Amino acid sequence: MSTVNETLIREVVAEVLARLGGPAGAAGSSPGGGGEGSGGQKPAATREKGTPSCGCPGSGTAAGRTVHGRFGVFADATEACAAAYEAYQQLSAAGVAGRRKVIRIVKEICTARAEEWGRLELEETKIGRLDHKIEKLRSLQAVPGVEFLQPYGLSGDHGITLEEYAPFGVIGAVTPSTHSIPTLACNIISMVAAGNAVVFNAHPAAYRCAVTAVRTFNQAIHRELGIENLACIIEPPTLESFQAIARDEHVRLLCVTGGPGVVKAAMASGKRAICAGPGNPPVLVDGTSDLDRAARCVIEGAAYDNNLLCIGEKEVFVLESCFDRFLAALERHGAVRLNEAQIERLTQAAFVFPQGQGAGCAHPTVNRELVGRDPEVLARAAGLDVPPGTPLLFGVTPADHPFVMEEQMMPFLPVVRVRTVEEGIEAAKRAEHGYKHSAMIHSLDVAHMTAMARALETTLFVKNGSCLAGLGNGGEGYLNFSIATTTGEGICNPRTFTRVRRCVMVDQLRIF
Ligand code: NAD
Repeated sequence: MSTVNETLIREVVAEVLARLGGPAGAAGSSPGGGGEGSGGQKPAATREKGTPSCGCPGSGTAAGRTVHGRFGVFADATEACAAAYEAYQQLSAAGVAGRRKVIRIVKEICTARAEEWGRLELEETKIGRLDHKIEKLRSLQAVPGVEFLQPYGLSGDHGITLEEYAPFGVIGAVTPSTHSIPTLACNIISMVAAGNAVVFNAHPAAYRCAVTAVRTFNQAIHRELGIENLACIIEPPTLESFQAIARDEHVRLLCVTGGPGVVKAAMASGKRAICAGPGNPPVLVDGTSDLDRAARCVIEGAAYDNNLLCIGEKEVFVLESCFDRFLAALERHGAVRLNEAQIERLTQAAFVFPQGQGAGCAHPTVNRELVGRDPEVLARAAGLDVPPGTPLLFGVTPADHPFVMEEQMMPFLPVVRVRTVEEGIEAAKRAEHGYKHSAMIHSLDVAHMTAMARALETTLFVKNGSCLAGLGNGGEGYLNFSIATTTGEGICNPRTFTRVRRCVMVDQLRIF
């Protein structure tokens, strides 16, 4: 049976059961169960207007409108926002205990379905690596929940004041193609922990898997809490549906994760926006630390999901005193070196140069056909064969090479020779473009660490570890795949999605 047919059958079974008033996700009763698959979803716009949803709680009407979508999947952004608003009110009634249940459900489903959904996302997007897609879904246990929202209390001669982290209501969210389901799941956990509902506009090249995840989450949430549309998603997403979400009266806050285009669009919307924007993370190796460890860490981060991570090592500046030894360490740990001619061939394949200009051109565009592809594919474009399982390619380039200056998200790492730490920091700063996203240093010299941190001002700054340590994998800290760099909230967590409300009791309630 083909995937499409299986998907269709599950969809039809879920729909029939729902219309009978039974649990629509009855195709599986465990949190990881339930009907899934987006390919067979009938667009809401083509359904008959006024079709009763199923008589289940949370369906039917939302803010006076007829809801055509089921389990969070909508063709119409306005209907999705209205349904999310109703779900937000239902979540308020379910209390903090209700939020905890939702978070448990989302985490359990992601763990149970990690393999299936990792494969689904890879099949749809065709970028990245299956093992890392699966790992990302399993890692969501490290995303913080309601425990993150500790109120702030003041007590004095004039009584007691409490500042609490309250929800906004409905949040409009945009997710990237690079980690569609993990970003979406992280957003749901953080936003719901803070008491919100959310409407997603996913990347057009990664929305089918996101629709599957949203539907599965909502089916399980509906079974346990009777809330059907806590996380909504537009199918299919368009620029117009993003604009409709951004304009909608129910949407109080935007959270966008992606490149410069969506950040600009969100900030121009007139709504408050949390922007997890682009990066181009540089690494500095000054030779004072263990070079084998530095090489291992750089490979781990740059090779992760074929270098799709926004925090991933994208270019390395190495002091000439340890340059050759560092290159040898990269090779010892499995990375394959390209020579000058091979780098040139790869460059011509990986970038589109305006008006036929060559590698010296300031602003080439990245050839998306090679983004997130396996090292074997890049190697072939460079004119050589590498053993299967090669984690990363690397090569020596000048500091102004397109592979250094563009956020290329490919498993080819440019390595640049610098004479001094000052020169390395200056070049790293230029390559980072002021995104203030992420940077890494391998050093035991505190003065070098301090100088780089102060010069680049990045949101994440990892010393002597891979970029993954910045998100709690190999370092201390919690996880989220939305790192609010442009607008400064940092690694998103439940507090990011709250408004602070102060409650003041004058002269009373204090017990001494
Ligand atoms: P992308 O910018 O192509 O798309 C991101 C999202 O924005 C998609 O859903 C897309 O449909 C939407 N979008 C793009 N332009 C838009 C516009 N004008 N109006 C409305 N929506 C628009 O990025 P991508 O290729 O999916 O992801 C990679 C980019 O995202 C990289 O730049 C990476 O650094 C960044 N990213 C950042 C973080 C972070 O936490 N800071 C996390 C992941 C990815």
